[in-house]
Amino acid sequence: MQKLICKNCEHSELLTEINGSNTTKILIVPEYEIRKKDGLHIYPLYCLKCRHITKWSSDPNNYSGKAINGIEYYKTFKITKKYKEMFSPIENSLGGRGYTLREQKNILFCGQF
Ligand SMILES: [Zn+2]
Repeated sequence: MQKLICKNCEHSELLTEINGSNTTKILIVPEYEIRKKDGLHIYPLYCLKCRHITKWSSDPNNYSGKAINGIEYYKTFKITKKYKEMFSPIENSLGGRGYTLREQKNILFCGQF
């Protein structure tokens, strides 16, 4: 089971449960940066416990040699305005019941891993 870890406070959650419940403390968005040298997709995760962003990528075969449970981690930093705007629709939807388009998109996104 792949799980994501906040590299600031070490809180972790299973990838399959992220964005899926009202108790989720780690959020992810289907937006990524492409690393120039190899085209790797790097995603941000947002930890609601400590309000930090951690950059990560999926590395199930540990090509990097640095993967933890199939995930490689990069820098972590306090959330900025840019990321606040990126994550606010998901954060705002956590208390709601039923499906929205945005939630469905996130569920599909989690299914990729
Ligand atoms: Zn954290």
